[in-house]
Amino acid sequence: MTDSTTPKNKLEGKVAIVTGGASGMGEATARLFTSHGARAIVIADVQDEKGQIVAASIGPNICSYVHCDVSDEEQVKTLVDSTVKTYGCLDIMFSNAGMARATHTCEQTVFDIDLSAYDKVMAVNARGMVACVKHAVNAMVEGHVRGSIICTASVVASRGTKNTIDYTMSKHAVLGLVRSASLQVGSYGIRVNCVSPGSVGTQLMKDMLKTESDEEVDKALESTSNLKGGVLMPKNVADAVVFLASEDSQFVTGHNLEVHAGFKFRDD
Ligand code: NAD
Repeated sequence: MTDSTTPKNKLEGKVAIVTGGASGMGEATARLFTSHGARAIVIADVQDEKGQIVAASIGPNICSYVHCDVSDEEQVKTLVDSTVKTYGCLDIMFSNAGMARATHTCEQTVFDIDLSAYDKVMAVNARGMVACVKHAVNAMVEGHVRGSIICTASVVASRGTKNTIDYTMSKHAVLGLVRSASLQVGSYGIRVNCVSPGSVGTQLMKDMLKTESDEEVDKALESTSNLKGGVLMPKNVADAVVFLASEDSQFVTGHNLEVHAGFKFRDD
């Protein structure tokens, strides 16, 4: 067991999957898992070139890249099966892949919602999340692993929003998944939690704001932060994920850990 007082190496010898690991918070978390002594990290994403570059830069002996569209259950099953076959087990599933918008032509309010765009967002953010949790828990039970599963929800998972009702609904679904799954797998010693970031300056935030301007993103980040000391960075969320993945949180399950710098909505 990892000594919880050791600041580093909280994940010594662990095997982890990080979905959406080609960029943003997934990438930052894959890097942090490595510096905490994880034995193997499998990055799963649909951005193949970026994912391969990130895996190579972390180190080919520790990190590999697998193409996996999380909305396709067969691909998720193959991802989990191949990880177990290659590394012997699965200890940590960071189910993090997500998308902000499937349409830029409307705001996705209840007045104008495009339901085929809604289906796409739900397919990745809700269906993809449950597929990852399903195959991870089955692999953990089969391998007698007291593993940790962390899903990325959002501050909007427990609040309403004035646009992107599809994204907001999909993140509410993640909370339901984590709360129910944690009860269903607790007797196997498996923990299921979620991390709920506030605004973080990633590509997804640019998509949400419908901009490619870093300046606009920075402004939005500053306006949602209520805590002196800068804006949230992917690494700050990764720190929370390491806590949930490690023995430091050994009795934490079914929990929604918000990491949001005292989040306030932009038009509050
Ligand atoms: P990001 O765009 O940098 O990363 C998302 C990753 O998910 C990308 O690499 C993307 O290719 C991948 N992805 C998208 N669809 C996929 C699919 N079908 N299968 C596999 N991979 C897929 O953005 P991020 O902000 O790091 O997002 C990570 C998670 O954080 C998402 O679940 C997002 O909803 C959540 N989140 C982000 C914010 C924020 O402010 N950025 C806030 C709250 C929650």
